[in-house]
Amino acid sequence: MRYIDPHVHMISRTTDDYEAMRQAGVVAVIEPAFWMGQPRTQIGSFQDYYSHLIGFERFRASQFGIRHYCTIGLNSKEANNEALAEEVMELLPLFVCKEGVVGVGEIGYDDQTAAEDKYYRLQLELAKEVNLPVQIHTPHRDKKQGTLRSMAVALEHGLDPAMVIVDHNNEETVQAVLDQGFWAAFTIYPHTKMGNERMTEIVKHYGPERIFINSAADWGISDPLAVPKTARLMLERGISPETVEQVTYYNALAAFGQSGQLLETDWLAANPIDQSLKYSGNSILRGGQIPVGEVASDSVIR
Ligand SMILES: [Zn+2]
Repeated sequence: MRYIDPHVHMISRTTDDYEAMRQAGVVAVIEPAFWMGQPRTQIGSFQDYYSHLIGFERFRASQFGIRHYCTIGLNSKEANNEALAEEVMELLPLFVCKEGVVGVGEIGYDDQTAAEDKYYRLQLELAKEVNLPVQIHTPHRDKKQGTLRSMAVALEHGLDPAMVIVDHNNEETVQAVLDQGFWAAFTIYPHTKMGNERMTEIVKHYGPERIFINSAADWGISDPLAVPKTARLMLERGISPETVEQVTYYNALAAFGQSGQLLETDWLAANPIDQSLKYSGNSILRGGQIPVGEVASDSVIR
């Protein structure tokens, strides 16, 4: 089976993760712009981060046979630094239209402050203007109310729910998200929140339409193999392969494919891996390592 992980912060993951993901069948990833664990203090940090996402990280993924896309936005936490947020808003139009940018994200609410609300709304307007999907981060505290509010505000700004991916859903939010025509994404967190077993039950109950899963793996304790592992569990629990494919591949492709920047042929017709390639003179190889050729989904050829 082939998988897309439509929310994973690869910039903070290792090359071992890339190798393991490719071997497990992950063919494409979407990396939303988010915060770094501590606040940025200058506009240049945002600029370099966005450049990194569309530049070196994309190259690094390609060296392991994985196609890398991103969404670009001002995350909710850092929207609270209004002086800096103003500068970021001026920067965003320069990045959202770059090749391989499949949406505006991840944006939305964290503590649901007035500043978060302001920059969420401004970015919804930006997404509408450039006709890109929106990837919404829903708050971890006050989840239900925050999710409902995120959707209400998106509708207030005239966004088509079919262009909006509401992320980090749970059993409490999924019905409302589906009822209103939005995409319902689920993050598979290790140990807490949405465990694999719970996700299996949700898919059994709601079916596959407009539902898909991601790992949201980042610099915290997280599992970049959450998508393939959950797919395997779903199959073991008797969910049909067609349904599993929809929630781990086709729905993410359809949702973010609306950007016009995410095409299945990007990976189906890709060139073989060539680790002798360099990005701005930089290779992923260290100390005389031999470049790896094509990596098949079940074997690494050295
Ligand atoms: Zn994230």
